[in-house]
Amino acid sequence: MNKPNIVIVHGAICGGCDVALANSEEAISKILENIDLAYWSVAVDARLSDLKSLGKIDVAVFMGGVRTSEDEELAKWLREKSKILVAFGSCSAYGGIPGLAALTSPIELINLVKSTITTSSQYKSIIELPKLPELSTYRALPHVVNVDIVVPGCPPPIKVVNEFVNVLLKYIAGEEPIGPLVIAGSKAQCETCPRKPKDLSKLQIPSIKRIYEAKIEENRCFLEQGILCLGPVTREGCEHSCINVNMPCTGCFGPLPGFEDVGLRYIAGILALVAVEREKELMEQGLAKILDKLVDRLGVLYRYTLPRSRLYMLKLSLEGSEYAR
Ligand code: SF4
Ligand code: SF4
Ligand code: SF4
Repeated sequence: MNKPNIVIVHGAICGGCDVALANSEEAISKILENIDLAYWSVAVDARLSDLKSLGKIDVAVFMGGVRTSEDEELAKWLREKSKILVAFGSCSAYGGIPGLAALTSPIELINLVKSTITTSSQYKSIIELPKLPELSTYRALPHVVNVDIVVPGCPPPIKVVNEFVNVLLKYIAGEEPIGPLVIAGSKAQCETCPRKPKDLSKLQIPSIKRIYEAKIEENRCFLEQGILCLGPVTREGCEHSCINVNMPCTGCFGPLPGFEDVGLRYIAGILALVAVEREKELMEQGLAKILDKLVDRLGVLYRYTLPRSRLYMLKLSLEGSEYAR
């Protein structure tokens, strides 16, 4: 019997997801044993034309966001051709870190990049700038096509990559994945966090601090120390990788089920907790003063999810974009 095949393709990617997959020895050996690795440009000697010549695709893994018109075309082609389409990594699943550029127009971005070129004028005459691909409206993969499996993380940790490959093996054995399936828990990070306070509902937050401003007590909840931690709105499943090394969660596993806009949820929930302790100050100074302490708001609240935020949808809607929802 012919083995089913798998292709691994890239949109806007940093390469970390490829490294994560390559580092998962167990996952890679199971893939090589049971599945025909038909295309993975970083590991297999094959070109895009080879991918396009495949008669059928069983599993397509898409890494990175949809940034260019080529990415979009590839995503749609893969959806049409593949039985199972996988959004691998936070960029693909939610927009990820490159998605932070979503609010800037493609032309502004290109001009910004051009403005950073420091090549001296004598070389400018002989070095042609490469032709840049046409940038499209930035989107996460599920905003462009339906996906069957989401593998979250920036990059996905080894345990999650192994779980994902086990799901694929079940599919090969005849068990269809019930999609969309997210390879992560459905509870918040806080639920299983080793720093979880005795009573989360009574948690109070002193004034907001940046990490360098605080002497962080290990074993104590970051929020109780005034350090913003996105654990309350983020799916569990990474085994608290950051928290265990004394860093707060920045949300790479993506929103909890039903939380479409992470930032708004967070503001609503967390600022209420700040307010409990500082009601008088809030009344006097207003919420804006508290928010002033929140430096790089979009980067903190939407580090991996800006392209699925209401703010972004509002922008697209005001521009009359066909992608506004
Ligand atoms: S999810 Fe993280 S590691 Fe993967 S491509 Fe995006 S930025 Fe890189
Ligand atoms: S807010 Fe962060 S540190 Fe506190 S319990 Fe939740 S995940 Fe743990
Ligand atoms: S603690 Fe948060 S940011 Fe860190 S790996 Fe887990 S989900 Fe991602």
